Amino acid sequence: MSSPHISELTWPVYDAKVKDGKTIVMIPVGALEQHGHHMSLNTDVLLPTAIAERVAKRIDALVAPPIAYGYKSQQKCGGGNHMPGTTSLDGHTLTCTIRDILKELARHGVRRTVLVNGHYENSMFIVEGVDLAQRELRWEGIHDFATVVLSYWDFVTPEAIEAIYQDEFPGWAVEHGGVLETSLMLHLHPNLVDIDKVVDHPPATFPPYDFFPVKPEWTPASGCLSSAKKASAAHGELLLKVCVDGISDALTKAFES
Ligand SMILES: [Zn+2]
Repeated sequence: MSSPHISELTWPVYDAKVKDGKTIVMIPVGALEQHGHHMSLNTDVLLPTAIAERVAKRIDALVAPPIAYGYKSQQKCGGGNHMPGTTSLDGHTLTCTIRDILKELARHGVRRTVLVNGHYENSMFIVEGVDLAQRELRWEGIHDFATVVLSYWDFVTPEAIEAIYQDEFPGWAVEHGGVLETSLMLHLHPNLVDIDKVVDHPPATFPPYDFFPVKPEWTPASGCLSSAKKASAAHGELLLKVCVDGISDALTKAFES
């Protein structure tokens, strides 16, 4: 039984693997969020899960089931939480979910954990969940529980950005439903992308503030913040490679002791 997925192991196999605290456990954190007319709502779950699975195979780590819901979509980076299909958690709920999972892993003996974020809006709620878990574990006398928090797109190298976008990189904030995610999905889950339904429009522009309740007209009608017209499976393959390489190296370094 050699699956990297905890959910596919029996408890004795899992127990033997984690009880000495050495094995890294990765938790993908996603969202159920609209990704335009051309791509499925579970994009932010599938991408960090696929990356975590490949990293786990390379560095002999495990992958916990992903968190399939995330913090509320924000208009300037995810189109906004008013969009149909987008189904979000309150920040407190996400924070407590992460805290609870980390504490359960600690109870099993796990001491090295990684949150692999696939949805920008989750970022600080993940950090808060980690902080609460580590604080409570310290109260219980556990001082060696370590966590890496990362977002996979931060491992895309300048060389890959140049190769894919040339001089037209719009910035990660407006990549929602754009070339990065669509290319990765075309490579990993082509059945969940309909490239003919991509709406080609310039990257969204926003004023330097947020407004609540949101003004729906700020979000492009497609729901995407930039066009995925230049997406391709080949770009997706390159993006996957640099993310898996970068994250594998980073985790090896972070947990070396
Ligand atoms: Zn996304």
